[in-house]
Amino acid sequence: MRLSSAFMPTLKENPAEAQVTSHRLMLRAGLIRQTSAGIYIWLPLGLRVLHKIEQIVREEQDRAGAQEILMPTIQSAELWQESGRYEAYGKEMLRITDRHGREMLYGPTNEEMVTDLFRGDVKSYKDLPLNLYHIQWKFRDEVRPRFGIMRGREFLMKDNYSFDIDADAGRVSYNKMYVAYLRTFARLGLVAIPVRADTGAIGGDLSHEFQILADTGESTLYYDKAIEDFELASLTGDIAPETIERLQSLYAMEEEKHDPDNCPVDDADLRTAKGIEVGHIFFFGTKYSESMNAKVTGPDGKLIPVEMGSYGIGVSRLVGALIEANHDDNGIIWPEAVAPYKVGLLNLRVGDAACTATCDDIYLSLRNAGVEVLYDDRDMGAGGKFADMDLAGLPWQLIVGPRGLKNGVVELKCRATGDRTEMSLDDALAKLGA
Ligand code: ATP
Ligand code: MG
Repeated sequence: MRLSSAFMPTLKENPAEAQVTSHRLMLRAGLIRQTSAGIYIWLPLGLRVLHKIEQIVREEQDRAGAQEILMPTIQSAELWQESGRYEAYGKEMLRITDRHGREMLYGPTNEEMVTDLFRGDVKSYKDLPLNLYHIQWKFRDEVRPRFGIMRGREFLMKDNYSFDIDADAGRVSYNKMYVAYLRTFARLGLVAIPVRADTGAIGGDLSHEFQILADTGESTLYYDKAIEDFELASLTGDIAPETIERLQSLYAMEEEKHDPDNCPVDDADLRTAKGIEVGHIFFFGTKYSESMNAKVTGPDGKLIPVEMGSYGIGVSRLVGALIEANHDDNGIIWPEAVAPYKVGLLNLRVGDAACTATCDDIYLSLRNAGVEVLYDDRDMGAGGKFADMDLAGLPWQLIVGPRGLKNGVVELKCRATGDRTEMSLDDALAKLGA
């Protein structure tokens, strides 16, 4: 993409409405714009990141055996009346009436809809286990939308639903998702602490929240420091059930439930930190299958209510969480896996014909090699270009100026470390994979 024609509206000043770093940087770097409280437009740069996160989430769901579907955002109130949650969900639910006076709603989650899908089409234990997911916009009329897209009212979630014949099989499905979540967050370059959670409005008895460590997190966590080492060590290859159970047995609690006098972890091994919840998984058994009559025939021909779990990842919240975990005073520092472009190409002297010809060539070479590149070909001073590129946070900056070119060199800057190295153009291109 050439910056001269890109829609990437950046802001020099810190917007007054933004309280946390990620929100400030997302507005300043031109990733999002607000349209009403908690509702945002995703601009080109932000949308590219959102898509990349979505794709990593998708790949790890597929790898774990879940199948992708797409359920609608608008649901009928009837299903929620059946499960008993229509009243219980309260004011967070956006309720809509259609032209025929039928009660509808903008889905805050999809347990009811997927249970209805299941009961219509799955009749036998032989069709289990089944795990269905979708990546779809949700609406929750949060009391206090804040921190930009981190607590929005409209937000993108990956949610999936597992169906099993009995509780043991349900637990296996749950653990598969638990591992898929650890893998997903590791691929995003994040340390996620799985914290034992209450099952709350969804009900049931087994639940973990995945929390990213960041100073602006809404939760305060206490956890065994062994979790940090454990996760990194256990993420390659197949993971034995005992390993998962060992990890799940390590202490991690939210402040409200942490009792310092009865904590099983020695002070020396206990860590405390703020966390941002980026994922939440539940095993709730037959809560919905009983109330909504979702049953399959078992091996003996008798009808059995199916055992269910549900699993959510805040895809749009992750954009903010990633920035909270990866930034400096100058802007965002994207991990390569989710960066909107891998390389920023800076032409320091657009008026210089030789410099511009070289930059145009580099731009073509990188694109031909499949390297995603944002080309700053604007006719303006170098200072502004450096500032914008640092703000945008692309992992690599390839800096090309007439003086260097005379000596046959360009500069390659690593955004994360700030290191700038002079090298030949060929070496720079090789380093960038072109
Ligand atoms: P929270 O406690 O933050 O309100 P929740 O328990 O209501 O979260 P779930 O219903 O488990 O969240 O939803 C799954 C995931 O969706 C959460 O882990 C979070 O990452 C994301 N999420 C929930 N609410 C919002 C929101 N208002 N804006 C952005 N993402 C959200
Ligand atoms: Mg909530």
